[in-house]
Amino acid sequence: MVSSTEKEKEIETAKTAIIQSINPATGELLGECPIMGKFQVDQAVEQAWKAFDEWQLLNYGQRARYLLKLRRVISQNADAITELISQEVGKPRSEAYAAELNGPLDTCVWLTENADRLLKDQMVQLSNPLLSTKQNVISFEPLGVIGVIAPWNYPFSIPMMTIAMALMVGNTVVLKPSEKSSLIGIKIGELINEAGFPPGVVSVITGDRSTGKLLCETRLSKLVFTGSVEGGRKVMEQASANLIPVSLELGGKDAAIVLPDAPIEWTAKALVWGAFTNAGQACASIERVYILKGKRTDKLIAAIVEEAKKLKVGPYTDPQSDIGPVIDETQLEKITHHVKQAVHSGAIVQTGGKRVESLPGYFFEPTVLTGVDHSMIVMKEETFGPVLSIMVVDTEDQVVELVNDSEFGLCASVWGKNLRRAENIARDLNVGTVTINDCLFTHAAPQLPWGGLKKSGFGRSHSQFGLMDLVNIKHINIDAAGGSLRLWWYPYGTNKMKTLRGGIQLFHGPLWKKISGFFEFVLNNLKNPKGGPS
Ligand code: NAD
Repeated sequence: MVSSTEKEKEIETAKTAIIQSINPATGELLGECPIMGKFQVDQAVEQAWKAFDEWQLLNYGQRARYLLKLRRVISQNADAITELISQEVGKPRSEAYAAELNGPLDTCVWLTENADRLLKDQMVQLSNPLLSTKQNVISFEPLGVIGVIAPWNYPFSIPMMTIAMALMVGNTVVLKPSEKSSLIGIKIGELINEAGFPPGVVSVITGDRSTGKLLCETRLSKLVFTGSVEGGRKVMEQASANLIPVSLELGGKDAAIVLPDAPIEWTAKALVWGAFTNAGQACASIERVYILKGKRTDKLIAAIVEEAKKLKVGPYTDPQSDIGPVIDETQLEKITHHVKQAVHSGAIVQTGGKRVESLPGYFFEPTVLTGVDHSMIVMKEETFGPVLSIMVVDTEDQVVELVNDSEFGLCASVWGKNLRRAENIARDLNVGTVTINDCLFTHAAPQLPWGGLKKSGFGRSHSQFGLMDLVNIKHINIDAAGGSLRLWWYPYGTNKMKTLRGGIQLFHGPLWKKISGFFEFVLNNLKNPKGGPS
């Protein structure tokens, strides 16, 4: 006899749709994965809850041992992991090593060395004398099961860093990788298994947004979403039915401000890397450059164009490639549209500007535009491709205004030798992170908070603040003075009201009112029918 659960599973398996994983550099089919349905999603979440029973009981030292094993497994498999990342999302191997592995590995170490300190119970003193007998403990407890919905652009580091943080505080995780990087998602599951984590502590469910939607509708303690603004909006809507709290790490339109004293050659190299690494498909890619007008402005623009021209576009299999393909045809079309619309409105293509026709995959030439303004899509919407747009601006105030004139607020960078001036500008920018004389790298440093404002989302990942997003901040209040009635308890009455009124003046009034307040407080309190201040 077949049970109803088995029947459900059979029905679902029979109708399971498939996602194809495609190498964006060649169009080659890399593999196929199921688009998981309700049965499989519910099952993964149920297993995560079961695993939570035991996992939450471990202490930080015990969980740290798992994370250190995971670190060893990742470093031992580094070549296979980066090969798969390069195959499935197209980035050069150097980028896969630098940007995908450092973050997760450092997170394991940082958590191991710091979690018990950062998550230690905190004692809180109260300032109101009426509450002087109360002790307060703040403890940080696991929430339960965390759903992680991840994008394809950093398909390993983004989910891995969140998973490590969630596990360290005692949560269990269900990961839904992007449909464009499912094989890497599956690899994450394999590495977790190889590191010996108990079954169900991390489950990977493959699928597209329909699978993501099902995950949003299950019993989760929290949902950590990284992806597009549209995706984030939908996820928030879907999660709201069960009041599942969400943290949203969304898109960006990051600006770089170049001050007149910035060294030309070095800054040009820096900006070109910031704009074109990962083929410009980073939420924190430099998409807008504002050069504060100076004597050397033209030289700087020429140096940026020169650096961009030097970049080699090609598949990761050529170790000389600096820029890989973008993820798919849709992305290629979007980038082309942004550039065309800008050119139509008067922008000048200094280099690049179109698809690479000589290569089979989704390659776009590294593109530098000048003569742009804020009426153009390329300065407003996230392009997410290898396009760097430059505006020359007259004053510092105008620069700040232009940078802040964006629906996004993820990161920004300021470049120049006068660090005080750069820092003053940094303080005026409405973003989550400002780097001075560098860009992009902070995502890989687990000690630093990551997250944005406006349409770039909310909540913080990484750092002690990211840990706080993954715990129940529990307050325990202890009062040893049992037996005495509290001043604010029943019964009320005129004397009670006067006592409390006197207390306000006694504790908060000017000196002469303190004196009258003292008498009102004490005398009326003595007349209270029962009890006194605790
Ligand atoms: P996306 O929103 O299309 O997809 C992200 C993930 O969400 C995928 O797993 C997808 O299947 C899932 N998803 C999409 N719609 C969903 C829905 N309605 N319900 C449930 N799940 C859904 O984004 P993408 O194209 O994979 O990623 C690129 C975007 O991510 C860019 O905008 C980029 O800026 C942003 N991003 C932000 C950060 C950050 O830290 N702020 C980091 C990386 C990428």
